Amino acid sequence: MSPRAEVRIDLDAVRHNVRHLVGLAAGAGTMAVVKADGYGHGAVDVARTALDAGARWLGVCTLEEAAQLRAAGITAPVLSWLHVPDEDFAPAVATDVDLGVASRRDLAAVAAGARAAGRPARIHLKIDTGLSRNGCPPHGWGDLLEAVADHTAAGEVEPVAVWTHLAHADAPAHPTIEVQAGRFDDAHAAARTRLGRTLLAHVANSAATLTRPDLHRDLVRPGIAVYGLDPIAGAGEPTALRPAMSLRSRVALLKTVAAGEGVSYGHIWTTPTDRVLALVPVGYADGVPRLLGSTGRLTVGIGGVRRPVVGRVCMDQVMVDLGPSGTDHGVAEGDEVLLFGAGDDGGPSAAEWAELLGTIHYEIVTGVGSRPRPVRT
Ligand code: PLP
Repeated sequence: MSPRAEVRIDLDAVRHNVRHLVGLAAGAGTMAVVKADGYGHGAVDVARTALDAGARWLGVCTLEEAAQLRAAGITAPVLSWLHVPDEDFAPAVATDVDLGVASRRDLAAVAAGARAAGRPARIHLKIDTGLSRNGCPPHGWGDLLEAVADHTAAGEVEPVAVWTHLAHADAPAHPTIEVQAGRFDDAHAAARTRLGRTLLAHVANSAATLTRPDLHRDLVRPGIAVYGLDPIAGAGEPTALRPAMSLRSRVALLKTVAAGEGVSYGHIWTTPTDRVLALVPVGYADGVPRLLGSTGRLTVGIGGVRRPVVGRVCMDQVMVDLGPSGTDHGVAEGDEVLLFGAGDDGGPSAAEWAELLGTIHYEIVTGVGSRPRPVRT
């Protein structure tokens, strides 16, 4: 246990989750998405664990994220998918990173990178089937395919896949899924015809991997489920997944505060009687959102017991109410405090935090600050 705070990553849980996903999508390959430093869990360690557990591909957003994996000696296929104008693709092509291409602009820059690297770039053509985000809209698809055909003939690119991303995968019966799937199939067929080759198809994120086997196609791209968080189940619902991240600290100080005193900035909570409070040295700079304190419903786990956080969350600390003074609260300075964990380990889960905040657990795990010491076991 670190003196102040640690973010503990259970790589066995990652292994378990990836095995589960690989088993579910047995007819397809699995691309473990490790962007954003493995959703805050540590991209390189998660990538190695995921590959060991049966994933065959890795997915990232940026070229820097792909380069980090290559620098760590990871040689598995990596797809990097979101690029900015004037990106230098040569190092990525030279290190065998597959590249998402969504426009003629992307394609021209990737082809320039391929010429500089002296080898063709492997590209995955992204069709925007209805998310209206990154991706080539259907009306531009034919034109993009013409340009891809030209660059392929010039030996600058090697088309590998057609892919898309869903808007409502977390609502498996949502009608837009059928619309997106139909547009995807049209785009995939058109690419096969125009480019005269078989191209991999990939569509499914975690939610679709878990609930829509019809969308597994050649490759699934789960992210959040790799980390044990179910994109569909509500907080506390049992799933086959095991959350891998927990945020822990320890009691830095116990103090008795007289009845009627305001606690923390703005005094949004006042001691109803003489109270024993525990100071826990983590705050919003560590990834405990300030708004959580304002809900009045945040708890932490100490010795397996849920205790309420009282008053505002500060940058570096929170206060926890242990009850009236003079009663045996059973907590000592130095005791471990569970901020969030698996949900069945005496404290809240990331999903529970997300529910309190009206957000999603993705934002909780990626929002842990750089100060808690990462410990991966
Ligand atoms: N594919 C793409 C293009 C993504 O942007 C993401 C994440 O946002 C994923 C797959 C993985 O999604 P999820 O974490 O919901 O499984």
